[in-house]
Amino acid sequence: MSIQKFIKASIEDEQQETAPPGPLAESFTDFDAEYHSMLCAGCSCLCDDISYFFKKGSVTRTLNLCEVGWKRLCAVSSEDREPPPSPHLLSDNVKQAAALLRAHPPVLVLGADSTDEAAIRTSFELADTFGGISLPWAFPGLRRFYERAKKFGWATGLLDEVRDRAESVIFWRADPLVTHHRHLSRYSLFARGRFTERGNLDRNLAAVASHKTVIEPLCQQFFELSIDQDPALIEALAHPQVGGGFDHRDLPALARALQGASYIALFVDPEKVTDETLDALFLWSAKLNTEGRKRMVILPLWDSGSNIEGFCRVSLELNASPWGGASVRTSAGAEPEKASWEDQAGSVGSVLLISTGTDPSPGCILPTCLAEKPLVVIDPSKRSATLDGQVVIPAALPGLESDGVFFRADGLPFDVSKLEPLDNNGFPTVAEVLADLIAEAR
Ligand code: SF4
Repeated sequence: MSIQKFIKASIEDEQQETAPPGPLAESFTDFDAEYHSMLCAGCSCLCDDISYFFKKGSVTRTLNLCEVGWKRLCAVSSEDREPPPSPHLLSDNVKQAAALLRAHPPVLVLGADSTDEAAIRTSFELADTFGGISLPWAFPGLRRFYERAKKFGWATGLLDEVRDRAESVIFWRADPLVTHHRHLSRYSLFARGRFTERGNLDRNLAAVASHKTVIEPLCQQFFELSIDQDPALIEALAHPQVGGGFDHRDLPALARALQGASYIALFVDPEKVTDETLDALFLWSAKLNTEGRKRMVILPLWDSGSNIEGFCRVSLELNASPWGGASVRTSAGAEPEKASWEDQAGSVGSVLLISTGTDPSPGCILPTCLAEKPLVVIDPSKRSATLDGQVVIPAALPGLESDGVFFRADGLPFDVSKLEPLDNNGFPTVAEVLADLIAEAR
């Protein structure tokens, strides 16, 4: 049976068994067009098994698209989205934006980590043109994480390897059910791998968080701890025979699970832990990997742009650092490399914000030091009240309305194709808008 027939059969079975009356009950053959095995660029999972079903030019059904991906789709396909601007209006917008940025150097380009590789490259070129800097939202965490990786060595692995081998998985102040909805089903818990054939039955899942999180009911061990308790927990897990005075109901069970695992995958949100915790995690991983009896990989799970790994790679190539350039002189006179996020942000004259197309997460709200700066927004969605800039330039949503290369959470590049029937109909790509701004400034 072909994949298409299999999907049709599955949908029809599902509809017969469970579908309520109404739009979902319509026959599968009512769809005008269907697209299968599409990649979603909604987060760095880059799921490659998405199906879209079209009727009269609109998506009426999807398969495997999670809530994050669905919101992204809605952002560009909702009826109240502004129509594409005329070339004349677009050119006026670009001229206005370029004049604003030129009048207020240096320029901070923020949010290129949610776009495709070509746009990320152009964001660095634009930052150079306007004497500024291009940074991802997760700049402070990114810098701290890679500094540790350089210092202690970084044991990383492919997500496919995690799926195939990880017997014990820990989410350290990261919750994939909030940021990467299908992470558990595709890679880290339910997914059946070569050596984990029974999926979650072959794995132990633990999480560390400051409060009850969405993932908590799925965990065999859950540590609700304040951030300053992290190093003590790591010490107790890394040296269970010594103990270290840390006590928790779930500690013995997790220590036993780690003892019995030959492959441990640890996912951490570097923005939510201290330097001391990052040091301790890297040292723990280095110790286990050096001893050679088991392997422990550390993968960052960013609450940031879906192409944060692409940003790191392009930045590494162009700036010799994965967290963005450092050309802005801070007002405090601190060395740019050592400057805090607030130092960097406070030193710029204006901001060019590349929006994600959906409402920003709490971690992606402009800091107060930027609130009063002249702001240009490249916005692929119909609008966002929080992103009212002096100039707003509409654009195609990368990875859905325009083609581009995105990097998965483990660094693998994928060519993401646009969804043809959503063809941007006149919206320029983000890379094109950035290139026009550069041309206008020269
Ligand atoms: S998990 Fe991420 S890549 Fe997969 S469907 Fe959801 S948003 Fe898209």
